[in-house]
Amino acid sequence: MTASTLAAEMSFVGNTLDRCATKRNDLVWIEEQLADPNARFVLATPKQLVLDTSGETPRILHSLERAYELGASKTEIAFLGMRSPEQTPIFAATIALRDEDLETFDGLSGQGLRTLAIDNNVSAEELGYLAQANALLHWHRSHKFCSACGQPTYLAEGGYRRHCHSCETDHFPRTDPCVIMLILKDDKALLGRPARLAEGVYTTLAGFMEPGETIEQAVRRETLEESNIKVGQVRILANQPWPFPANLMVGCVGEALSDQIAIEQDELEACKWCDRDEVRQMLERTHPEGHFLPPAISIAHHLIVDWLEGRTKL
Ligand SMILES: [Zn+2]
Repeated sequence: MTASTLAAEMSFVGNTLDRCATKRNDLVWIEEQLADPNARFVLATPKQLVLDTSGETPRILHSLERAYELGASKTEIAFLGMRSPEQTPIFAATIALRDEDLETFDGLSGQGLRTLAIDNNVSAEELGYLAQANALLHWHRSHKFCSACGQPTYLAEGGYRRHCHSCETDHFPRTDPCVIMLILKDDKALLGRPARLAEGVYTTLAGFMEPGETIEQAVRRETLEESNIKVGQVRILANQPWPFPANLMVGCVGEALSDQIAIEQDELEACKWCDRDEVRQMLERTHPEGHFLPPAISIAHHLIVDWLEGRTKL
């Protein structure tokens, strides 16, 4: 399997919105899109997306009137892009309501993006721009003040910049890359159990990249830190936006140069070499100790299953 086929099966990779990056700095153009009666809005609280549950299937898009009714601020609306083929402007905004207050509105409810993805209630394309919205709105909520001078910042460029009028500093939305790696040796895969995950889940090792580091160096450092396994050759297979809140998962395969595991207790509860039979039991939920793989929305699942099915080589 090629990297692109693997990528197409993951959640959050199907965003086809035209971000109109050369137009969104034009305030007049943004105002025209906001005034378009067909414009639609992704609305969110700090923890949940707002769903319109008045119809047969939940809908993730709302009208401008609904956005203002729920307390979205006119100056804090971000432009996500144009949806084809009908050229619908799609925006995103954080609303003023608390999660519990949402339930007092008929036909509205809140749901976390992770649950929405796992439940598979929205299309691959919608999940793609919900990822964009989740990451972007989180950044706006957490960057209200200038990190250079402490004064308030203001949304600019359709939401892709915040500006401080006090010291004229521009701030840009961040994406934090993480490496996630399938480490192989003698036809066995190195899988670990981070304590933060559900009981029984075994998955690929992963960690944040550090400044001044290549992807390959990050794979070797993180694997050594978490398991004491030395890694040689590393190859990038696929990548996935992971909007919790704003990561990019860079999926790699790496060749282990050692096999004696010593786990870092702060990171992992357990870590082991798994042969294909054991990984298949995890996939099919027949593992004697109840171990299982992460859900299919994640790149980890696909890294593991692609190797299991013989599609990934070192
Ligand atoms: Zn400033």
